[in-house]
Amino acid sequence: MKHSITATLLLAALCSCDDKPKEQDKLQFSLEEIQSEESLDQPSGQVAYNHCAAICDLGPRPSNSAGYEAQLRYLEQHLQAAGWKTQRRAFTGAGIPMQNLHATWGEATHLRPLLLSCHIDTKINVSEDFVGANDGASAAAALLEIARMLTRKPQQAEQVEIIFLDGEESFAWNMTEEDGLYGSKWDAQRRDDEGSLPKWQINLDLVGGRDVPIAPPSMDTPPSMYTEYSEAIRTLQFSPEQWTMAPTSYLDDHRPYLDKGVLSLNLIGHFVGSNWWHTPKDDMSIICPNALSESMRMTLQLINQLIPKEEQ
Ligand SMILES: [Zn+2]
Repeated sequence: MKHSITATLLLAALCSCDDKPKEQDKLQFSLEEIQSEESLDQPSGQVAYNHCAAICDLGPRPSNSAGYEAQLRYLEQHLQAAGWKTQRRAFTGAGIPMQNLHATWGEATHLRPLLLSCHIDTKINVSEDFVGANDGASAAAALLEIARMLTRKPQQAEQVEIIFLDGEESFAWNMTEEDGLYGSKWDAQRRDDEGSLPKWQINLDLVGGRDVPIAPPSMDTPPSMYTEYSEAIRTLQFSPEQWTMAPTSYLDDHRPYLDKGVLSLNLIGHFVGSNWWHTPKDDMSIICPNALSESMRMTLQLINQLIPKEEQ
């Protein structure tokens, strides 16, 4: 993404990360764990952390790469194991073959009012071994675990579509209106053409960083979504320093939908001025299970608010 105004935030040391990740367990997320009743009450930061590590182990995942294909298979495997239907949609962005991955619950083909999204491509030309742990893997990992949680509320899950977007990153170093957001632009246009735009979108990006506040861009946040976000912070009793707003607008995957009238909220980690964003330092060493856990709890709280029980 790109920021159009330099955000100025007063930040303190925020995310406590004393929940030490258990790297030795990282590939032990199994079908049994999916089916375990105990682990379904709250989203597990450790499970999401393990997904994030497993995705990073696939290496760089730019559009149309072997790593990207392996990531698609990883996501499909875990989504399908949890009972979600998956569908790839292929398109061309900047002359390159790209694929978005969709996940839906249930047989119905009705329009799902809430779109959960994240990008899963990693930026090219950062370094040979750039894995995009926060910028790419973290949100995909969080949405996998959220998908698992939603299996407990199938009527709610039927109102949600999850999309893993290709081509968010620009090919030139800096994103522009023309270069970047290929997957979300293509999908938003397709839905507009088909009359299938959702009512709401929650986009996740950079949601697993240690001491990285989540700061949706205030200039891109519709008032109704600001109200929902504020209510969720209060309900969850989250720190207003860790869960804040950036006084800015961003080019990110919420924008193509927002521009078409969707009520979008971009839950994005504060990256401006960081020492890790689009650098080789964006690896698992900066990822925090507790940060992932909070991001997932926020997303699930917002889902509960937007899709209340009486509409299920
Ligand atoms: Zn990026």
